[in-house]
Amino acid sequence: MTDSNHGLTDQQFDLQHIWHPYTSMINPLPTFKVKRAQGAIIELEDGRQLIDGMSSWWCAIHGYNHPELNQAVTDQLQNMSHIMFGGFTHDPAIQLGKLLLKITPPSLDKIFYADSGSVAVEVALKMAVQFWSAQGEIAKTNFVTPRSGYHGDTWNAMSVCDPVTGMHQIFGSSLPNRIFIPAPQTAFHEEWNPCDIAELEKTLAEQHQSIAAFILEPIVQGAGGMRFYHPEYLRQAKLLCEKYNILLIFDEIATGFGRTGKLFAWEWTGVEPDIMCIGKGLTGGYMTLSATLTTKKVAETISQGEAGVFMHGPTFMANPLACAVAVKSTELLISQDWQANIQRIEQQLLSHLQPLAQLNYVKEVRVLGAIGVVELSFNVDMKTLQQAFVERGIWIRPFGKLVYVMPPYVISENELKTLLEQLVEVVKNMENVK
Ligand SMILES: *Cc1c(COP(=O)(O)O)cnc(C)c1O
Repeated sequence: MTDSNHGLTDQQFDLQHIWHPYTSMINPLPTFKVKRAQGAIIELEDGRQLIDGMSSWWCAIHGYNHPELNQAVTDQLQNMSHIMFGGFTHDPAIQLGKLLLKITPPSLDKIFYADSGSVAVEVALKMAVQFWSAQGEIAKTNFVTPRSGYHGDTWNAMSVCDPVTGMHQIFGSSLPNRIFIPAPQTAFHEEWNPCDIAELEKTLAEQHQSIAAFILEPIVQGAGGMRFYHPEYLRQAKLLCEKYNILLIFDEIATGFGRTGKLFAWEWTGVEPDIMCIGKGLTGGYMTLSATLTTKKVAETISQGEAGVFMHGPTFMANPLACAVAVKSTELLISQDWQANIQRIEQQLLSHLQPLAQLNYVKEVRVLGAIGVVELSFNVDMKTLQQAFVERGIWIRPFGKLVYVMPPYVISENELKTLLEQLVEVVKNMENVK
């Protein structure tokens, strides 16, 4: 099909005019046009069917085109798709709130709805600064964070992402300078090494007067390197934050909703944060919605400050369509034996991927919950590799040295088997291309 205004095929129009995530407008990577998606299957316009290994970046936990989620959106649509949240409230926001308070850390009590993960992180950072400023602690405005983290792409969220992979140097002084400590080194299944926490202790001891909060992704560092670290790290971090008067922020945007084998990753230790961000899987991948939860203490302290309010209020705050589908998605998840299902996926990931560790160009294979990672010893060529995966009927989007999968939980045993067999073949064939 050609476009009358531009004389381009749709595919050419897309490449020439539409920006995709992290792409060049001179040399854009090819894109594949999707017609529809159903369960764990993505159907391209040319009819090819791909088994989904990505859940659309952690989101589509129940797969695509789910009848109950579709129904939840349709039902809400009959009432209203949106209404301003200033001065109004509605059932979807309230029902979702009740549900979230049941499944998140018990000390979290106040919910701020926002429209994307990055904004949830912005909100968390602002809460921390307002919390201290309300107590006259106006110097406590900076943040500590481990390297290899990822917290989103807006300005301040970006400032706490890994400075190397986030290419902080190209933004110069326009980007706030955060305090980075080494990424946790003890891996999830290793024996805890107490030295792992030493740098945090040293940093907090020296600079606590200027630090509002310690922000990190609990257990799994996602887009910053797909690293799984030891739960004891969180326990130690909590103690240090209490000792030095620093708020603790957990970014569970990727780890939430069962992905690591717990409903939320904080449950691996029981350590509760002061502020927690959730997003991605919250709506089952139907719509963009996030939430920042905090304690009564943080919320009330902010409210006693000079502003008297928390200084944030997005236009699409608590969008009813998004909240309605989030309620349904969350109910759907917790009403089934999701733990057994995640274990099934974990076992399959382990049995197929583990043998790849023997290849001399595979640095490590790691699996946690419904996340499987093959770390190579060299950077992959995304274009070639993605093409190879599509030709084999699977959808996997590697980055850097990482080929990883986090399939939708509805993926059948057979679909997952095919996905992993094909992945393994592609990785084995890389012997020739690297
Ligand atoms: C994806 C992600 C974000 C950002 O969410 P967006 O919805 O893309 O803005 C923040 N933190 C973590 C851990 C993420 O994985």
